[in-house]
Amino acid sequence: MSGTSSRPPAPIAVISPHLDDAVLSCGQLLAGQPDAVVVTAFAGRPERYPELTSWDERAGFKAGDDVVAARRREDRAALAVLGARPLWLGFPDTQYTDPPSCEALAAAIERALDEVGAELAVMPLGLFHSDHLLTHRACLEAFRRQRQRRWLLYAEAIYRRVPNLLDDRLAELERAGLCAQAVGNWTAGELVLKRQAVGCYGSQLRALARSWDGGYGDAFECVNPGFFDEPVSEPAPEFDLRDRL
Ligand SMILES: [Zn+2]
Repeated sequence: MSGTSSRPPAPIAVISPHLDDAVLSCGQLLAGQPDAVVVTAFAGRPERYPELTSWDERAGFKAGDDVVAARRREDRAALAVLGARPLWLGFPDTQYTDPPSCEALAAAIERALDEVGAELAVMPLGLFHSDHLLTHRACLEAFRRQRQRRWLLYAEAIYRRVPNLLDDRLAELERAGLCAQAVGNWTAGELVLKRQAVGCYGSQLRALARSWDGGYGDAFECVNPGFFDEPVSEPAPEFDLRDRL
């Protein structure tokens, strides 16, 4: 992350609800961590596509398009810019089908983190979108069972602008005994790479521009991820990620 930092001994894994969230939210972190892996929860192809969804239409797709294949190509290109690689879980986006159980998603995330051998896992805060909240809750399950890893969390770009969402989620976590604090410093070079990577998600940028005031501009606001630890009353000083990243 910063010019004085060193690479961790094992890969980091960023867990992404959809095929863009990890890069939109923490592409700068990925840029500073070569060989990182992005584990995307809702990256599966549905058995069959329903009628064209409003989101896919806004993204420029037509009926009959293999949207997931196109979005995977975007994801692969974006991660290549950052020196990262994708690990796509098989759950289809819930705009196409019913969501999996939290337990099933948590188990799949844990398997993915084991496969990667991730020393550090980075989870979303689960803001605004039901797929994001489900991913967050599944990550919390994984966090509670996989305490051998370090964990960071990130506030999802664009959704983090919705008034009160971020503060409410952090307060909820604190009530559960979980404490987050800001970590990380980004270099100008990392932010340049992030901008280049974000540009690979052409379909999603088109949809975001048509859906949110300010489009995807928030992705370039420099919001640090937070460090995650429990319990609040027993901070673990050895977990200072400014030394680790
Ligand atoms: Zn998303």
